[in-house]
Amino acid sequence: MLTCSLCINNEKTSKIEIVDRKPICKECVVYLKHKPDRGKIRAELDELMKSVDKAVVAFSGGKDSTVALYLAKEYYKVPELEAIMIDHGFMAKEAIENAKRIAEYLDAPFTILRYDYSDIFREALLKAQSPCRRCSKRTMEKLRKHALSKGIKYIITGHELPFGHHPYRLMSGGIIQIRLLSLMSEKERFEILKKLPFEFPKLAGYTTNCLILGPALERYYEKHGLSFEHRRIAALVRYGLLDKEKALEKVKKPEIPEEIKRDVYERLNLNLKEML
Ligand SMILES: [Zn+2]
Repeated sequence: MLTCSLCINNEKTSKIEIVDRKPICKECVVYLKHKPDRGKIRAELDELMKSVDKAVVAFSGGKDSTVALYLAKEYYKVPELEAIMIDHGFMAKEAIENAKRIAEYLDAPFTILRYDYSDIFREALLKAQSPCRRCSKRTMEKLRKHALSKGIKYIITGHELPFGHHPYRLMSGGIIQIRLLSLMSEKERFEILKKLPFEFPKLAGYTTNCLILGPALERYYEKHGLSFEHRRIAALVRYGLLDKEKALEKVKKPEIPEEIKRDVYERLNLNLKEML
């Protein structure tokens, strides 16, 4: 099977062409033609952040949103911040502890809003689909409504890729989502985490907050023989944000601790034995 010479896409995850005798995926072909300008995106982010006087930080207690909260508070010095965790019902308790510890350490007001996303998770596990897109869409909508109700215009998130070639996105109601980690490498993020009282939880896969991701990745892997995160992780390699080796590690079939798996399936009223 052909694998892209630049990222980690293969014939299962993308269309591979041969360019200059090297296999290359269609996303990398586009990327090489229209490379995002890192300096420009960073400058745009710095300029935008100057006008941010009040913001909601989408704070899941995971490593990326922890870095985002740190940057907003310590680097960009946003005068008024509110860290909001949208608990979808399956946040790891370690993530909630991390979130409380980090918010206290950074002296940021922190609120947990609790919801029940089991409809999304149950369906994803039953159908062996990724729950991530629907989950994050619902979460962004809840954050948007929260920001609107508080008269706050900006929502800061811990995403590492820009929206197209810009680090922000206009949402309805005039709310602006800012991807504060746009084009920040994993190494840079880890350097920041070292300064903070962040403890890595022992969860399946690479998540630092969600109990669903591991079991969902496993189900998907069993059905399709690959990770539903493969293309996103390939993009991180393409943008130079993640080593190929580490990326390949992340797209392997995850090992899920038995007690997490049992707990998740039980709470979603799914019978693991019938599904296998
Ligand atoms: Zn590629």
